[in-house]
Amino acid sequence: MSIKMGIRMKLISEMEAYAQVHGVPIMEKEGINFLCDWIQKNHIGRILEIGTAIGYSAIRMALCNEQVRVVSVERDDQRYAMAVENVQKAALQDRITLVHEDALEYEAEGMFDLLFIDAAKAQYLKFYGRFEKHLPIGSYIISDNLNFHGFVEHPEIIRSRHLKQMVRKITAYRNFLETDEKLSTEFFDVGDGIAISRKKAEK
Ligand code: SAM
Repeated sequence: MSIKMGIRMKLISEMEAYAQVHGVPIMEKEGINFLCDWIQKNHIGRILEIGTAIGYSAIRMALCNEQVRVVSVERDDQRYAMAVENVQKAALQDRITLVHEDALEYEAEGMFDLLFIDAAKAQYLKFYGRFEKHLPIGSYIISDNLNFHGFVEHPEIIRSRHLKQMVRKITAYRNFLETDEKLSTEFFDVGDGIAISRKKAEK
C-alpha cells in the first residue's frame, strides 16, 4: 500500500470513529461498500451527492475509481467545515467539490451519471425534482435510508407524530420510485435500505 493510500485509510477509520462518538449519521459500512462495488461495476464518473455531512461517503466514493468526480452539497456550517478539512487531508480537492448551501436552493451545473440522495429524509422527492434535469437518460438515482431504521416496515411501533410524518413521506417516496414511468427501481436491503433507480425516459 502506498503512503498516500495508508493516510487515506487511516483518515477513513478516524472519520468512522468520529461519526460514532459525535452521532454524525454517515453511511453504514455495509451500505458504502455495496455502493462502491456498484460504482466500480457501472463505471460511474460524475456524482452529485446531496448530504455531505463530514465528507465520509464523498471520500469513499471518490476512492472507488480514479475517474470518479463528486460534487457534494451540505447546509450545516460545522459539518461542511469538517468535510473541507477531511477532503484536504485525503488530498482529493481536485476530484471532490464541496458546496456549502441548502440543496433546495443550489443551482447545479452540468450533467451527472449518479444523483446520490442522503439528506433530509422528508425532502427526497423535492431533491429528485430539483436535480432531475441534470440526469441524462441511462443515469442513476441512489436513495439511502429507505428502511428508516425498520420504521417503514413497522410503522405501528411509532409513537411520535413527527416520526410518523417522516415515515409517511419516505413511504410516499418509495411508492413514487416504484411507480414513476420514467424510472425503473430496485430496492436493496443493505445498510438502512438503498434504492437504485435508472432514468429510462425524459417524459
Ligand atoms: N452522505 C453522508 C455520509 O454517508 O458520509 C451522510 C449524510 S447525513 C445522513 C445527511 C446530511 O444532509 C446532514 O449532514 C445534513 O446536514 C444534510 N442535509 C439535510 N438536508 C439538507 C439540505 N436540504 N441541503 C443540504 N444538506 C442537507
